[in-house]
Amino acid sequence: VVSLQGVRRAFGDTEVLRGVDLDIRAGEFVALLGHSGSGKSTMLRILAGLDAGATGGIRTGSEPAVVFQDPRLLPWRSVLDNVVLGLRTKDAREQGRAMLAEVGLAGREDAWPRELSGGQRQRVALARALVREPDLLLLDEPFSALDALTRISAQTLVQDLWQRHLPAVLMVTHDVEEALLLADRVLVVADGKLVHDERLDIERPRARNHPGIVERRVAL
Ligand code: ATP
Ligand code: MG
Repeated sequence: VVSLQGVRRAFGDTEVLRGVDLDIRAGEFVALLGHSGSGKSTMLRILAGLDAGATGGIRTGSEPAVVFQDPRLLPWRSVLDNVVLGLRTKDAREQGRAMLAEVGLAGREDAWPRELSGGQRQRVALARALVREPDLLLLDEPFSALDALTRISAQTLVQDLWQRHLPAVLMVTHDVEEALLLADRVLVVADGKLVHDERLDIERPRARNHPGIVERRVAL
């Protein structure tokens, strides 16, 4: 669904990415690790088509959807309005309601974002991304602002949503355990390049027999 070839990005004299090659296939769940400042968010923005300053071969499929560390909801719009904002399909609101139910927020459609907890707001951001049926979902440290327990339920939710909708996912995280729990492929960026790209020995996604997060936790 996306392919980078020899991609470079510099800010002034600093070359942040110095030749990145990456192919992400449909339905893959890829985690991207790397030190702070190594260029993870830069790479994610390039994949999202939000960075016009990169050079090299960049091929993306249809519109990717992004969830950032902060949910970036419009405070003066209801939860449902935030989810369906900009959608033109006739049954957008129906789909928005259904997606909110999938993320555990049925009944909160008319709430204001400020009336939700941080974890719930991040669920709204996930619903807003997935209702667009992206073939690539980009997550930039989506859970790092959440407390430990809320993070576990958010991780489980993302795994469920992924198994149900099967977009390709690229998730930036600082958390190695999180990467191993969720992803079936792990990338590490350092010195402007991908220095590690490993497929974990885990079955391809299948809603029923794919190992759930609980089984993986036990295995870790
Ligand atoms: P973190 O884990 O802290 O989020 P990161 O791996 O996501 O870090 P990036 O945000 O991609 O890192 O930034 C990589 C480098 O590029 C940093 O040195 C940063 O200062 C620089 N950088 C990123 N965006 C810009 C910008 N718009 N202008 C100038 N420098 C930038
Ligand atoms: Mg970042």
